[in-house]
Amino acid sequence: MRTSLFLIPHVLLFFTSLAATNAAEPKPSQKPYFSSGAFMRYVAKLTCKAPSGGKNTLHVRKIKYGMSERKQPLFAYVAHPDEDTGTEIENVYLIAAQHGDEQNSSRALDYFVRELKTTRADYLESRRIIVVPKYNPDGFKKNHRLNAKKVDLNRDFPTSDGEDNPHAVETKAFLKLMKKYPASYIYNFHQPFRVVLYNPEDEEIAKPFALLSDYPMGQDVGYPTPGSLGIYSREKKIPIITVELMRSMRPAMAPFIYEEIRLALFNAAFGCIPKSAQKSHLEKYLAE
Ligand SMILES: [Zn+2]
Repeated sequence: MRTSLFLIPHVLLFFTSLAATNAAEPKPSQKPYFSSGAFMRYVAKLTCKAPSGGKNTLHVRKIKYGMSERKQPLFAYVAHPDEDTGTEIENVYLIAAQHGDEQNSSRALDYFVRELKTTRADYLESRRIIVVPKYNPDGFKKNHRLNAKKVDLNRDFPTSDGEDNPHAVETKAFLKLMKKYPASYIYNFHQPFRVVLYNPEDEEIAKPFALLSDYPMGQDVGYPTPGSLGIYSREKKIPIITVELMRSMRPAMAPFIYEEIRLALFNAAFGCIPKSAQKSHLEKYLAE
């Protein structure tokens, strides 16, 4: 009896140190919290000003910006203001499924593109929204993390810690797209840790996303990510957050995953929340 009691703390210590060395999960540093009333007030505060009265819905173009290793097209959906307002346009990128096995991140952005097409055009004044729901189509097809040449597409950016990058055609095509439309903000969607990962200098975009989705915020994924889009953007001084969506990989969960982040997504894309976005389409998506 005595011996076993004596042993317990040592066994615990052993497992604790194992967990520490294998730390493969983000450590949320902050848990946002809103009462429901405070949440409604926050949404009201972020709601877009009444639009000018136009009736047009956003024109969303589907463009092919390259080809994957297995010759699948790389698609982006681009929405931009109807009229040239003379002001400088900011390019907002929303990208998903750099890792082909994180498929519900892709499905969530597909729902977002559908809703974009029904959103009034005059909400979008000085921004161009660029959505890439399926960044790694070859990996997606095989439900595999890597591309067809076994490159991790979120470790393939030309950063100070990834100097011989890029290797993959998918990365080269995306860098070319960013040359055409230089990024003002990037939102990079992954799975499964359910956390908003951000650099301290990007708190301004991380916080509203976390508050609107009720996701925790974290500054570290828990393991090194050399050559990631996060590090690339930080070095280029492009504000970026990496949103790790919730764990479930089942397609049936995609509408719920989308529902959790949709207000945050609209706010990320438009810089405010269009009135129409406040109506949920969850039931419709579940019925499909
Ligand atoms: Zn990922």
